[in-house]
Amino acid sequence: MKEPQKPPKQSRRPDTEVVELGRNPAEQFGFVNTPVYRGSTVLFPTMESLEALDQQYVYGRRGTPTQQALQDAICALEGGSLTLLTPSGLSAITASLLAFTKTGAHVLVSDSVYGPTRRFCDNVLTQFGVETTYYDPLIGGDIAQLMRAETTAVFTESPGSLTFEVQDLPAIGEAAHANGAVVILDNTWATPLYFKPFSHGVDVSIQSATKYIGGHADALLGTITAVGSAAEQVHACHGDLGLCPGSEDVFLSLRGLRTLGARLERHARSALELAHWLKGREEVIDIIYPALEGDAGHAIWSRDFSGAPGLFSIVLKPVPKKALAAMLDGLEVFGMGYSWGGYESLILPFDAAPVRSATTWATEGPALRLHVGLEDIRDMQQDLHLGFERMAASS
Ligand SMILES: *Cc1c(COP(=O)(O)O)cnc(C)c1O
Repeated sequence: MKEPQKPPKQSRRPDTEVVELGRNPAEQFGFVNTPVYRGSTVLFPTMESLEALDQQYVYGRRGTPTQQALQDAICALEGGSLTLLTPSGLSAITASLLAFTKTGAHVLVSDSVYGPTRRFCDNVLTQFGVETTYYDPLIGGDIAQLMRAETTAVFTESPGSLTFEVQDLPAIGEAAHANGAVVILDNTWATPLYFKPFSHGVDVSIQSATKYIGGHADALLGTITAVGSAAEQVHACHGDLGLCPGSEDVFLSLRGLRTLGARLERHARSALELAHWLKGREEVIDIIYPALEGDAGHAIWSRDFSGAPGLFSIVLKPVPKKALAAMLDGLEVFGMGYSWGGYESLILPFDAAPVRSATTWATEGPALRLHVGLEDIRDMQQDLHLGFERMAASS
């Protein structure tokens, strides 16, 4: 297809970027979307070219046009210099940690981190002689005091996706860099639409694209984006580990990305409205959502983030377990299950106490994490209202 002369590209705003990035219809015979390229072998025209690996694609595991399209889009959104894909969010985390550790190294990991991240540090990194120290997510610049000569990485997640402590990443970045360590961020909650990692002291930003990027609870995918020399280190390790996602999941994530701006806006609006409504319920004693004024993380969130998506937690007044079960078992709009970021509302009872070592997590009553989906907010309120009534009836 012959391309017409076009004026130079203008800079775009995020909602336009998610629609335009990583898409070149001229390369796809005019079709709007990059299709699913399936493939292992990529053919070379000559022996010279085979030996020099001088073409864009050389082997399916090292990338396809479908993967490249998503990588280009995520990389531009996060503001990094390189993005790589992995088969899950967890494998993006484990590959990033492996890239910056070797026997004798020490890593600092937030006490509020996603549970499986913690298990990887405790079960796998220890096998290679890598020591982990968990830190208080509210530590800020005082993290300097936990740095050792052999500290190579600080793994952060802000806010924590269960307990929502917001971290002072610029201060943590400053302390880490002064010590020669990299800062890795799990940016799944905010997505690069609501938090720009590389202008806040981060060197490597991972996402579970399974959540908001995919957005439809039908694909598993991880992304790793990095800048500078960190990008080279991640690239080498990722290649050696043989991590490559399935083409279908990459395609679904690209498809999800196109509506990310619109979906997040709706998740955010409904979440804030539901949080305010829950604040007025006598059954609720606390709401943990950085977007709410008065939340412990609100000040740093306002300073560093440009939005808050549909995921937050609440604490209920103490009730017997069977009353909580009566509430949860009967819910119809809110489903019960792991993961989040899809179009549907979810609710999850949790106790963070057993996965803490540097800080304590104690609540008077049961804690629930809510993912506020795209349903009509009045139906969500009605569902929870009826749930609270069942809870009262069996208390
Ligand atoms: C779900 C999640 C992950 C892991 O993602 P998977 O794609 O399920 O492996 C990592 N970090 C956070 C914050 C998550 O919520």
